[in-house]
Amino acid sequence: MKFLRFETRGKETLYGTPEAGGIREIKGDIFGRFEAAGRTFDPAEVRLLPPVAASKIVAVGLNYKDHAAEMGRELPEEPRLFIKPSTSLIAHGDKIIYPRHMSSHVDYEGELALVIGKKARHVEEADAPGYVLGYTCLNDVTARDLQSKDIQFTRAKGFDTFAPVGPVVETELDPGDLEISTYLNGERKQHSSTKHLLFSVPRLVSFISKVMTLLPGDIVSTGTPSGVGPMKQGDKVEVEIEGIGKLTNYVV
Ligand code: MG
Repeated sequence: MKFLRFETRGKETLYGTPEAGGIREIKGDIFGRFEAAGRTFDPAEVRLLPPVAASKIVAVGLNYKDHAAEMGRELPEEPRLFIKPSTSLIAHGDKIIYPRHMSSHVDYEGELALVIGKKARHVEEADAPGYVLGYTCLNDVTARDLQSKDIQFTRAKGFDTFAPVGPVVETELDPGDLEISTYLNGERKQHSSTKHLLFSVPRLVSFISKVMTLLPGDIVSTGTPSGVGPMKQGDKVEVEIEGIGKLTNYVV
């Protein structure tokens, strides 16, 4: 099932699933038992939210060989982790705010992300799929000039609005070989498949869970393929992944 999260005009926050007639409310616990069984809303009458309220976003750098090559970096022997703050999350359709006061080079990075479904700590790779609720698109927006200037990634990757995610989470999807593309103003800039990930989804979940506890709703972003490049104010950026959909955002 595909699910999304939204706010109604009456300021209720609900989960729903897109259907032909609109957004059907989901009843129950998205991390437990749930079903599409409630009211139907007109998409024009609701405000989309990031599909989950994550406590943290754990992202992985240099997880595609061709991207490591374009960055002039050696392939890592273990996953390279960094954290994007929960305050960087925005929804499908939201605006990415260009931090002109600090940066003059802001890149898109289209990525497959997964949502954790249950508390994960010291999980073995074979068991990892059972901890994943589903998959979504994420744009790991990066101030490239600050990434090279700072030793840490916190500032370059952590500005408010630097983690667009959505539009939906797909709960029934095999992440092994999904086509992934990023478009800037309609022109395709990145095009690859998740089969080229250096560290697979189960490997990442297992590895990260041996560092920190992953909580329900936490997001793991699996890294970007080659073709990263800069955005400017006024641009439209889209990340599209087979079986999930297209995440669209605007740079302001
Ligand atoms: Mg990235």
